[in-house]
Amino acid sequence: MQVYSYPDPSTWPALQQRAAAAEALQVAARVRDIFGQVRERGDAALLTLAAELDKATLTGLVVSSAEFATAVAQVPADLQAAIRQAKINIETFHAAQREPEMRVETMPGVVCFRRAVPVQRVGLYVPGGSAPLFSTLLMLGVPARLAGCPEVVVCTPPQPDGSVSPVILFVAQLLGINKVVKVGGAQAVAALALGTDTVPAVDKIFGPGNRYVTAAKQLAAAEYGVAIDMPAGPSEVLVIADASANPGFVAADLLSQAEHGADSQVVVLTDSESIIEQVQAELERQLATLPRREVAAQALANSRAILLSDAATMLAFSNQYAPEHLILATDNAEALATQVTNAGSVFLGHLTPEAVGDYASGTNHTLPTGGYARQYSGVSLDSFVKKITFQRLSVAGLQVLGPVVETMAEAEGLAAHAQAVSLRLAALSKENLQTESTAEGQDSTFSKPYVGLIRPSVERMQPYSSARDEFEGMAPVMLDANENSLGSVGPDDFSRYPDPHQRAIKVDLARLKGVASNQIFLGNGSDEAIDLLVRLTCTPGQDSIVVCPPTYGMYEVAANLSDVRVERLPLTADFQLPANAAEVLAASKAKLVFLCSPNNPTGNLLAADALETILRSFKGLVVVDEAYADFAAAPSWTTRLAEFPRLVVLQTFSKAWGLAGLRLGVAYAAPALIAYLDKIKPPYNISAATQQHTLAALAGAPSLPEMRAELLNGRTWLATELPRLPIVEHVFPSDANFLLVRFSVDATAVYDQLRARGIVVRNRTTQPGCAGCLRLTVGTDTENEQLLQALAEIGAEQTTEMPVVR
Ligand code: PMP
Repeated sequence: MQVYSYPDPSTWPALQQRAAAAEALQVAARVRDIFGQVRERGDAALLTLAAELDKATLTGLVVSSAEFATAVAQVPADLQAAIRQAKINIETFHAAQREPEMRVETMPGVVCFRRAVPVQRVGLYVPGGSAPLFSTLLMLGVPARLAGCPEVVVCTPPQPDGSVSPVILFVAQLLGINKVVKVGGAQAVAALALGTDTVPAVDKIFGPGNRYVTAAKQLAAAEYGVAIDMPAGPSEVLVIADASANPGFVAADLLSQAEHGADSQVVVLTDSESIIEQVQAELERQLATLPRREVAAQALANSRAILLSDAATMLAFSNQYAPEHLILATDNAEALATQVTNAGSVFLGHLTPEAVGDYASGTNHTLPTGGYARQYSGVSLDSFVKKITFQRLSVAGLQVLGPVVETMAEAEGLAAHAQAVSLRLAALSKENLQTESTAEGQDSTFSKPYVGLIRPSVERMQPYSSARDEFEGMAPVMLDANENSLGSVGPDDFSRYPDPHQRAIKVDLARLKGVASNQIFLGNGSDEAIDLLVRLTCTPGQDSIVVCPPTYGMYEVAANLSDVRVERLPLTADFQLPANAAEVLAASKAKLVFLCSPNNPTGNLLAADALETILRSFKGLVVVDEAYADFAAAPSWTTRLAEFPRLVVLQTFSKAWGLAGLRLGVAYAAPALIAYLDKIKPPYNISAATQQHTLAALAGAPSLPEMRAELLNGRTWLATELPRLPIVEHVFPSDANFLLVRFSVDATAVYDQLRARGIVVRNRTTQPGCAGCLRLTVGTDTENEQLLQALAEIGAEQTTEMPVVR
């Protein structure tokens, strides 16, 4: 290896140079000639070229079923098992790349969606040559199958005896690919681009190959309208090895790249001089043992070991080089990986050789080389699909969006564009389209559900709009909002008003919850959403809401604040909705009903079928408050939003997320309803601090299950221990992070005595159905223990003095 010590950054570009493709011009001319032959003589040209270039005399181009049949028997059982395992891993990783089709209503009545549709005809090139790369067929065939490409053709060069590697045929069979053509090199690409009698022309060509194959793919892309996976060149690896690296491992990784071919690119960066020496020694020792040592030695002669001052410099070099494979042979690989900006695929730590990704970990090994990792990704499921966008406007949609488009089209001087809208708007006003679209029912989904539900004064009002909205992201000089341009008092800068639309949070939250971002409203706590929902629907002094006691007190508070009447529909003794709930509600003129599930203070989930009946029959909004849903073993009602336009689901960051101090609650609902909530919300209801912290928390969402599991353990433990206390009569089953407990003695006295001992719980004795009950929040193990200990003491001291109170 050539060794460079602390090269000046101005010399880096020279060190990052890949071996120049020497005879590029001759290669291009030869490839053009081959395309000409294939265009003129089709299959006959392929047979001639096989004899000339592969030294193979072929009787037919297509692998026959007899050849397939004998192939399996020739593949050893342990190799078959290994391939099967690799296939499962690659399938698992690529299947996870599927994106659900997401429908978004960008404005009321304007529905846009995007659907992944497979590329219809794909050609997979599998190199044969010195080593038949059956792994490439796995890497291309698995995503092609998962994407659902209807036509998949494999081309691979024949061996001199006219056969194709039995392992390649085994893999093809495993993937259900039955069209394998014995054609290699540029002629394979020409056949796939042009089509012959046996090789169908395809839409996209995948696969690595030598200089001729690469040049042919480029020609096919440039002149024949065929897409290619990516420009491919010789394979390459860059290893970042600090003093913690194992020189033997590093040398093995370098060699595993070098054995691909004499033109393979191998680079090692280190900040430790001794690592270079040890790696050199290991290279010599291991090279001697390799069957492909000739090839590897040639590649190593062009390879580079570069000594740099520190990790940051090594990363800067690597990002500038943009390697196909990047190995981070350091103890802190995970941290370094966050700084990687250009690379095809990255291998972290000392136990992750590139070889695992080449074969079987699950990631794809078809990756950008030659510095293309700066702008290309490797092959993935996406490479085999097109994302087609769709849209449909309802009457309401055309009415709101039409004028916007007319204005823009006129400003661009494209009168026909404007007319495409104007004609339809004019037709609408004559009402002939109105009938058509209501007949389809599509318009009703958007506006009808809320007729008579939204307070008339809200319908009339204009939403508050700040100048910041209009000029969002435009001017660096913002002198519109009377902020203090000099900065903030205190350590952090909060001198600017926050994003009134909280877009970043909505995008992340939408992804996490599987909803669209315009189905999300963010409130200053879900308490704010509760308040706004009442104000959105109820005219003070006139309308009413329904609550189902015992339940969360804020619903009534919000109603009282707005001078809105409260109708009560009490829960049954086991805290479920009464059998006639749907009937009572259907007959009620109330504008909305609050249903809390899991319910506070009782802890139980409301039966889903009862809720569903209400959703189908009640004419008002059905607000399902899921503040405690993270602790429950039931699917969220957010999954049913598309079915029920009047459903609103409330959730909060105050409970399982442990972020009560941020004050952030969420309402999920149909976009049109969210648009109404946005219209009446205070302009900057979510502070910049809350927005920042929430984004950080969403990035850390994977830790949520751990914390939740710990709280659930605490709940189980309390639920087991509490009934053993003599003063505890009953512990109600709970799907939340608290327990409702009925005492056999005066619960208020228990409450007072707990308080005297410094333990504050919630006294619920006056709530309907909760006589004798306290609500105990699950705390830390220590707090739970203190609570149990205190209750045991209270029981022992005062059982006789405390009469039962109902
Ligand atoms: N809903 C229920 C059922 C609650 O118990 C609470 C808080 N105790 C809330 C909503 C309000 O939560 P937030 O902190 O998001 O305002």
